[in-house]
Amino acid sequence: MVTSNYSSEEVYDLIAGIPDPEIPVITIKDLGILRGVTLVDDTYVVTITPTYTACPAMGMIEDQIKEILSAHHIPKVKVELTYEPAWTTDWLTQEAKLKLKNYGIAPPSHSSCSKLFTVADKVICPRCNSTHTELISRFGSTACKALYKCDDCKETFDYFKCH
Ligand SMILES: [Zn+2]
Repeated sequence: MVTSNYSSEEVYDLIAGIPDPEIPVITIKDLGILRGVTLVDDTYVVTITPTYTACPAMGMIEDQIKEILSAHHIPKVKVELTYEPAWTTDWLTQEAKLKLKNYGIAPPSHSSCSKLFTVADKVICPRCNSTHTELISRFGSTACKALYKCDDCKETFDYFKCH
């Protein structure tokens, strides 16, 4: 009988740095989707709230959690998905929004959005901070983003959609 020496807080810290598969500069903690870790009997239960129900990245995140914890000799891990309360872009940390901007993705401009897949009226160019931007496509490189073009620096960029 192997008893793990890790507290649930330590397990949380071990997996908090897992990068988002779509936006590798931000972690699952930055995104706000890592809800918590609890120890139930001898199993660590990791609770994740997916950003989008159809996000294919979730399976990859689950695999990475199990991989990291098994490398720390923590074999009993269960990843539970919870959709209540639903994830919103409000859960992004300020640090995550800054990282998105530095990565060239405009962070959500609204603090909160009522409608799914709302495209913001004013999106600020992450390169030159211009507000003279226009929507090119409601779907950017992934379904979670929209494609914009800046009229000032003439660059196109992804916008992380509010929802
Ligand atoms: Zn620009």
